[in-house]
Order: sequence, then C-alpha cells, then structure tokens
Amino acid sequence: MNITFLGTGVAIPQTDRVQSGIIAEIEGKPILFDCGSGILNRIFESRYNHTDIDTVVLSHLHLDHVADVLCLIKANWLCDKTNITIYGPEGTNEWMTGLLKIYGYLQGKSDTNIIEVSAGDTFTPDGVNCKITCSKGVHSVPSLGYRIESGGSTIVYSGDTEPCKSIMDLSQDADLLIHECSFPCGFEVTYHTTPDMLDGYINYYNTNVSCLYLTHLYPQMQGHEQESIEYLKNNLKIVQGIEIATDLMKIKV
Ligand SMILES: [Zn+2]
Ligand SMILES: [Zn+2]
Repeated sequence: MNITFLGTGVAIPQTDRVQSGIIAEIEGKPILFDCGSGILNRIFESRYNHTDIDTVVLSHLHLDHVADVLCLIKANWLCDKTNITIYGPEGTNEWMTGLLKIYGYLQGKSDTNIIEVSAGDTFTPDGVNCKITCSKGVHSVPSLGYRIESGGSTIVYSGDTEPCKSIMDLSQDADLLIHECSFPCGFEVTYHTTPDMLDGYINYYNTNVSCLYLTHLYPQMQGHEQESIEYLKNNLKIVQGIEIATDLMKIKV
C-alpha cells in the first residue's frame, strides 16, 4: 500500500498543515480517509486526480475531517465523475442528507452512496482486494479507527481519540499505526492524545506495531516535534520507526 498524508493538521489553521486527510492507495486505487478543509487542493498537489476518488472513509463528522467532502463531490461532478461511496459512523447519512438539502443545486448531480459502519464491522470497497475493520475511538462524538489489510500489509488509522484499548487491539501486529497526537507531553486533554498518554497504552497492551506515525497536530505541538519523537523512542522499545507526518509525505507499506 502507498500512503499519502494529505493533511496533518486540525481545526485551527497553521503553516504547512491543512486539516485531516490520508490517501491509502491499494492496488492502484486511492481510498480517501477523512476530508477536512484543504484536502481537495492537497489531492491535486499530491498528483492524484480527484476524479479517481470514489471511496471516502470518514472517522467522524467533525468539520476538520469532513469540510471538503461536498467540495470533492462538486469538483467531481464538474469533471463528469458522479459516483461516490462514503463510509462513516452513525449520523453520516443524516449529515449528508442535510447538506444536500441546503445545497439544493447539487441534489441529483451525484450518485452518493452512504454506508454507515460501526465498531466490529468489516467492509471492502468496490474494486480493491482489502479488508477494512472498524473500531471505536474515545472522542467527543462517535469516532472510528480503521484497520486496512491488503496484500500482506496492515495499516491502522486511529481517527480522533484518546489512547484506548479498542484502538490498541485494532493495531495489533500492524506494519504502520497512524495515531493522532494533538498536543505535546504534559498537556492536559481529554478526547485527544499526547505522547505521554500514548506510550503507556502501547506498552501496557503490548501493541506490536512496526512503525508509528503521528498526525493531527494542534499549533501547540509546534516546536515540540523533536522532543515528542525522542520521548516516544525512549519509551517505546518495541516500535522500530517513529515519525511525525507532514502534509504530502508519502510512504510505502
Ligand atoms: Zn480532528
Ligand atoms: Zn474530532
């Protein structure tokens, strides 16, 4: 699988990080995980074609993860691509129906297929050979993490969450865990993650992952990137590679 971090930021703007979005390219097909503000342009900048994206998987419905979904649907429609399937947690159907009601001029322009999924579900998007498993995160709204298995490789994307047992279980034996890390060590927070919250969970549950990439960085993380990596390297002996993701970073798993 080829992974492209399109956006590694959050709801608050900052230099060089737009909101959340990741492409997992499986057998040549790009599957988009989350689609916050700025992601449509990042798809272009990453040299993917937005009209090649007909599968979007949403972790949750916070704006920094969904703001560009309708923009993607409109851009695709303008370029004669009119089918899209959106997987997401409970509420995704109501959210999209409401949006299309407000933006009446888009109604009927796109064949939008919404599939709500929940913890424990597995699914396979059309046209690819893979298995995606859902698990619950701990966040202020229903939020899902996803485990993507294809061709002998496994990637997990946590979505927005505190470190939790369900995401640790989902991540067991993964080649790559993409976990949110909103704030630096010592920052008091719920529903999000700091490096000194994450290491305890990975160690306690013996979460065996080869690589850990951190994403979803708040501006408060600026200047704390290196110390975060060093902290985790010192405290996570079982993880071989630990990095902070940046927008447009590409890796092969
Ligand atoms: Zn978020
Ligand atoms: Zn959120």
